[in-house]
Amino acid sequence: MKTIFEKSVKGRAGVDPGTPDKKTQSILDSSLLRQKDNMLPEVSELDVIRHYTNLSRLNYSVDTHFYPLGSCTMKYNPKVNEAASVLPGFINAHPMLAYVKEDAVQGAFEVIYRTAEMMCEITGMKKMTTQPYAGAHGEMTGILLMAQYHRVHNNNKTHIIVPESAHGTNPASAAAAGYEVVTVPVNSAGGIDLNALKEKINAQTAGIMMTVPSTLGVFEKEVLEVSALARKFDALMYYDGANLNAIMGKARPGDMGFDIVHLNLHKTFSTPHGGGGPGAGMVGVSEKLADFVPVPAVVKTKDNKFTLDFNVPHTIGNIASFFGNFGVMLKAFTYITMLGKEGLIDVSEKAVLNANYIMAKLKPYYFLPYDRTCMHEAVFSAKKQVVHGVHALDIAKALIDRGFHPPTIYFPLVVEEAIMIEPTETESKQDMDLFIEAMIDIARLAETDPDKIKNTPVTTPISRPDETKAAREPKLKCF
Ligand SMILES: *Cc1c(COP(=O)(O)O)cnc(C)c1O
Repeated sequence: MKTIFEKSVKGRAGVDPGTPDKKTQSILDSSLLRQKDNMLPEVSELDVIRHYTNLSRLNYSVDTHFYPLGSCTMKYNPKVNEAASVLPGFINAHPMLAYVKEDAVQGAFEVIYRTAEMMCEITGMKKMTTQPYAGAHGEMTGILLMAQYHRVHNNNKTHIIVPESAHGTNPASAAAAGYEVVTVPVNSAGGIDLNALKEKINAQTAGIMMTVPSTLGVFEKEVLEVSALARKFDALMYYDGANLNAIMGKARPGDMGFDIVHLNLHKTFSTPHGGGGPGAGMVGVSEKLADFVPVPAVVKTKDNKFTLDFNVPHTIGNIASFFGNFGVMLKAFTYITMLGKEGLIDVSEKAVLNANYIMAKLKPYYFLPYDRTCMHEAVFSAKKQVVHGVHALDIAKALIDRGFHPPTIYFPLVVEEAIMIEPTETESKQDMDLFIEAMIDIARLAETDPDKIKNTPVTTPISRPDETKAAREPKLKCF
């Protein structure tokens, strides 16, 4: 496909901006005036419309294709969420809300308050801050809360324990907050290795960060033992709840002994989030940490009004502009209230059922490193295909030609040649069957005609870009 610059024809125009008059020109300092041609493409209105319409048709999205990108929860985002989030009363409110008279934004405050309240109920936590803008931002907030707790209690803590099946952002957040990261391996069933944990935990342990279900797609069966152990050393338990899709209405981090949990509203609670945003990474805390949460928070007054509370005794301060990403909260609020309690339980059951269906169907063709009932995602390895020179990357690329977004590959790091498939609850059996057929076809070809897989994709405008070069030396303009 040609770029819009390549479509440029000298003298063609879609709009006539006119020539600025002398008076307008004289307002600007001459140093601010353009000295050279602006190099914009010269195209007609129709050229522009066709160009961008065709570009948009090259996109993969949940609304066009099955998108089993493990750990990212690319579920269908109901359009009613969008409708609710653009109601005039919400979008015309001042973006900061706090700069408006409280009487004028009671509705918005109520949404924030009730969303936080529902998240407390879902997670079993005592208090929730709505401020963080993303999962990783929530982790950073959580670790700062942990650090504050230990500071206030005069604890001398130096490190955080992270199992190797945790999400990569976990050790990064712990390190960014100034802690040393101590890694614990997984056992043969894919859970945290309790014996290794017992060797590493000591009085200097600030906390344990666990991703549940882990990035291996399995539930951490030993979680109660882990939290009991943490309590002995006054280490706090951190729950990475970015992928809550498997446990809503089934189990609650608060009941498992966790002190901090972050949620990815954009994943589990349904906001379109491909390509980097928008997100919301609410953080819930147990009673122990209630006095440390960021301010301000929206609270309810005795006469059932909503107001801002800046009085949290040992607050870590403000980590976002007032409340965080209100639009995402509105979508989550709509999503939860539309589904209700039974609906959320149904989401989790179907998400887990779908992942297990795919796991069972593909097990004869792809190596399954941890062969046990999975949660919301199934993690395979391309080991069987590597024998024929076909790697996880090739399988991912071959899926593109067959009309599917690739699963997550080479993550989690503990699985060699990992292929992480998360169908989510919103896929039908028919669509999953098409995906399963495609995966089986690829496995068969990998054996009989590996080059057919290694040279994919062939249906896209470009086949295999140099991904490292694209990231290190991005070419962001055409001249
Ligand atoms: C996506 C994800 C994160 C990071 O969330 P962002 O919103 O991308 O910062 C952290 N942990 C897990 C398990 C995740 O899946």
